[in-house]
Amino acid sequence: MEHDGVNSYWHESVTSTEVEHESLNSDIDVDIAIVGAGYSGLWTAYYIKKLQPDARVVVIESNNVGFGASGRNGGWCSGFLPMTLSEIEKQHNRLAAIEMCRQSFATIDEIEKTLKSENIDCDFHRGGTIHGATNAVQHTRVIEEVEELHSYGFSDNDSRMLTNEESRAKINIAGILAASYTPHCATIHPLKLVSGLAKVVERMGIKIYENSRVIEINPRLIKLKNSIVRAEVVIRATEGFTSQIKHHRRTLAPLYSYMVATEPLTKSQRDEIGWENRETYHDARNMIIYVQITHDGRIAFGGRGAPYHFGSRIEPAFDNHDEIHQRIISSMHEVFPVTKNLEVTHRWGGPLGVPRNWKPSVNFDRRSGLASLGGYVGDGVAATNLAARTLAHLIADDKHPLTNLAWVNQQSRKWEIEPLRYFGINGLLRLSNNMDKHECETGTVDKFRAKVLAQFI
Ligand SMILES: Cc1cc2nc3c(=O)[nH]c(=O)nc-3n(C[C@H](O)[C@H](O)[C@H](O)COP(=O)(O)OP(=O)(O)OC[C@H]3O[C@@H](n4cnc5c(N)ncnc54)[C@H](O)[C@@H]3O)c2cc1C
Repeated sequence: MEHDGVNSYWHESVTSTEVEHESLNSDIDVDIAIVGAGYSGLWTAYYIKKLQPDARVVVIESNNVGFGASGRNGGWCSGFLPMTLSEIEKQHNRLAAIEMCRQSFATIDEIEKTLKSENIDCDFHRGGTIHGATNAVQHTRVIEEVEELHSYGFSDNDSRMLTNEESRAKINIAGILAASYTPHCATIHPLKLVSGLAKVVERMGIKIYENSRVIEINPRLIKLKNSIVRAEVVIRATEGFTSQIKHHRRTLAPLYSYMVATEPLTKSQRDEIGWENRETYHDARNMIIYVQITHDGRIAFGGRGAPYHFGSRIEPAFDNHDEIHQRIISSMHEVFPVTKNLEVTHRWGGPLGVPRNWKPSVNFDRRSGLASLGGYVGDGVAATNLAARTLAHLIADDKHPLTNLAWVNQQSRKWEIEPLRYFGINGLLRLSNNMDKHECETGTVDKFRAKVLAQFI
């Protein structure tokens, strides 16, 4: 299926029943205008309309629905956020940390329930996730992660260490020393989810405009090339592309994540790996990898750590990166030796939105009518739903408990100006990579590098 040149396995695996949306060429006046038709924008539209059925809501998209990360991600619908409980406690308090985590886990149920009630078929499968360790440092990290969760009152039902037999019975990973399991994760087909959501919000009476690039966002006013939009509330849901909007160059840094997908595994290859319940898999290296086995039995393997582009540039050419894709394929061969005999049929990538403090936030200023949600780093598939519900309740001003969550109105400070941003981010990425090499070779942590990294992430 043609989808603005994004060459992901997800795009190719759907038959096109896409509805095209007109672009915005005249001035309009609405109650709520949302910029960006990814999960953030569309879930927000959905929950606002549920709470305020009479509100006139529009979604304005520069390309087409799901063009961003929402149409091309790894399909991990995970209850984990890119911030630890202790980080949230340090910034707020213990109860705030527990509540944030509890709501985040419960979001997987909310998504599952809504997919059913709205008839969205996106291959949702709740297999949980396995966190593996292939060296001594990773082993300690996996244990500490489970222990941290338990120290905040969560139980084995939320996360637990697996015995070696249990781990092997679930999935056969080369060289695995230990692993933990959590049920708070599902796999989805990302593009089917975002397209399904768009259809639902349209049925609710929300207008979506495509090929309509917003140039500037101001209180109660959005500027496009040929038109303006006046709205009581203006919501920015532009994540990895935010740097392209006037005055937002330093709000979120676009970091690229890349993926590959293999041809479907044969029965004997599948038998060798096991993986009957299709859990998602990652290991505890610093430079994150993420894996799922798709509905039709392909391995979809992703990795972060690609270099940041000077000036927060985003270009279609950056969606592919030979060196990083090769690195991801090597990691895939390491983790699943059986994939050495499989053809890699698809390679793609896209930008994530990373705030200076690496923590997502939901922001609303009633006086100016400006709102935003995002900064999920690479963990936004489920978090967008929780962020959207949080924002919808903030706007409805209904004093809902979600409006007290720790991420409300916690916008990060801006990134440094260039060239500091370029050297800083790429320095951190190199540091993470070197730490992984050091940990793998020596089985020990380089305490100095770990300390430097902890200052920033
Ligand atoms: C390769 C990859 C793999 C990932 N894997 C996972 C995963 O497995 N699990 C997970 O939880 N997260 C993952 N993520 C992150 C996750 O996909 C995102 O956090 C999530 O999709 C963010 O949704 P969003 O709607 O906020 O942003 P996006 O989906 O990026 O949507 C933003 C939209 O805004 C539009 N837009 C931007 N600027 C303008 C403008 N000026 N005018 C109009 N429209 C504009 C864009 O075209 C885009 O459609 C991954 C990301 C990538 C790139």
